[in-house]
Amino acid sequence: MNTDLVTLSGVSKHYGAHHAIDGLELQLREGECVALAGHNGAGKSTLIKLILGLIRPTRGRVALFGHDAHSPAAARLRNRIGYLPETVALHPSMTGEETLAFYARLKRQPLSGNAALLEKVGISGAARRRVGGYSKGMRQRLALAQALLGQPRVLLFDEPTTGLDPASRLMFYDVVHELRAGGATILLSTHALSELAGHADRIVVMKAGRKIADGAMSALRRSTGLPIRIRLTL
Ligand code: ATP
Repeated sequence: MNTDLVTLSGVSKHYGAHHAIDGLELQLREGECVALAGHNGAGKSTLIKLILGLIRPTRGRVALFGHDAHSPAAARLRNRIGYLPETVALHPSMTGEETLAFYARLKRQPLSGNAALLEKVGISGAARRRVGGYSKGMRQRLALAQALLGQPRVLLFDEPTTGLDPASRLMFYDVVHELRAGGATILLSTHALSELAGHADRIVVMKAGRKIADGAMSALRRSTGLPIRIRLTL
């Protein structure tokens, strides 16, 4: 439980004069579930993209499984990471089944587990329908299924429940529960901290590109004497 799968050391990401991330230190240890909280623009998506190696830090180092995130060694291990972006590109004229098959080929995964994945996220009944006719909840369930392809060890979820219907939220947290029981490492960005009670081991709070708190929900509450929801607005 104490191996660092992801380490950010003094990481900054600047867009011109704008500091999206500023001097960030962060470790993700094997098997923990970390919630990443913060308002719009706090730097949550940028942080996730830095971990994935989709963007390069302006300063500092991002290590993935002990390798620099931009090294060939990290690139080879990237298929062990499941990523659910804030917005997933889904083609409206493809069916759910075709979409998942497309992502499986992209990730060089066998197609044999796809039916079970569609079942797990509760859309197997709509698998042969075009995605263009899916509700927001169904699209998000399909997006979750693509993140789970290949049984990744590390999962990065970028605001997975924003705008979701209650049933899809419950399904999502059931999947998180199952992943945690299986020993996966999870980083989950959210505005909905209250939903996460009982799911996350640790909460990292971001504000304007900086980490302003990092600890267990109970410890953060004790240290401020305030509910996290209020602390976030400080
Ligand atoms: P949200 O909840 O709105 O997605 P976030 O915490 O994920 O917020 P980021 O998307 O990481 O925030 O953005 C952090 C800051 O960096 C924002 O001010 C954003 O406008 C800026 N930013 C992000 N990407 C770029 C980019 N490619 N070019 C310029 N500025 C960017």
